[in-house]
Amino acid sequence: MSPARLPGPPVVGVLAIQGAFREHIASLARVGAEGREVRTSKDLDGIDGLILPGGESTTLRLAGGESGLLEAVAELRAAGVPMLGTCAGMILLADRLSGGSAPMIRGLDIEVRRNAYGRQRASFECELSIEALGAEPLRAIFIRAPWVESVGPDVEVLAEYAGRAVAVRQGPLVATAFHPELTDDPRVHALFLDTLRDNAMPQLRSKGEPGVRTQ
Ligand code: GLN
Repeated sequence: MSPARLPGPPVVGVLAIQGAFREHIASLARVGAEGREVRTSKDLDGIDGLILPGGESTTLRLAGGESGLLEAVAELRAAGVPMLGTCAGMILLADRLSGGSAPMIRGLDIEVRRNAYGRQRASFECELSIEALGAEPLRAIFIRAPWVESVGPDVEVLAEYAGRAVAVRQGPLVATAFHPELTDDPRVHALFLDTLRDNAMPQLRSKGEPGVRTQ
């Protein structure tokens, strides 16, 4: 891992509207970060990064839209706060959705197709070679997953499966079509923490001197 620029363990919010947020928090603990459940906009205060877990993007759109939480997250995203989106979380971060649905949080210059693997292969597991994670392949769990139809020029494709991008990174944003929190291999979370450290934004902290955690 690259040297930490943050003073203490980074605090990473995990959107806790639905989905495997507890598993994400456990994965964060494995790589030395503190996870915090985010249910309201107030829970976003002082976080160093945010994870958008899987679930059902239509539910997230409704629940998060009504409460104003998605709007608050979109503001943080626009301010440069690092985010990891997994499965439905990837859909939230996409600039374009196939079929013309309105994008939500946005930020990743990708077009994403929801439920792309169809009914036959709706859910499956496979081994993915991901150069950024080292030589050992990663066991990836796909659950009614999206795939990436197309990527813009600034998007780094981290992994492909059957000719489609399934993990991408662009600046402080990382997204996977699969569920890295459902295995005990924390390398995607470690990669996200590296990305977060490289893009640390201490000036966004609501408390204390820039770069100094006071709690
Ligand atoms: N099929 C879901 C959607 O389109 C995503 C599934 C998941 O997050 N596991 O929102």
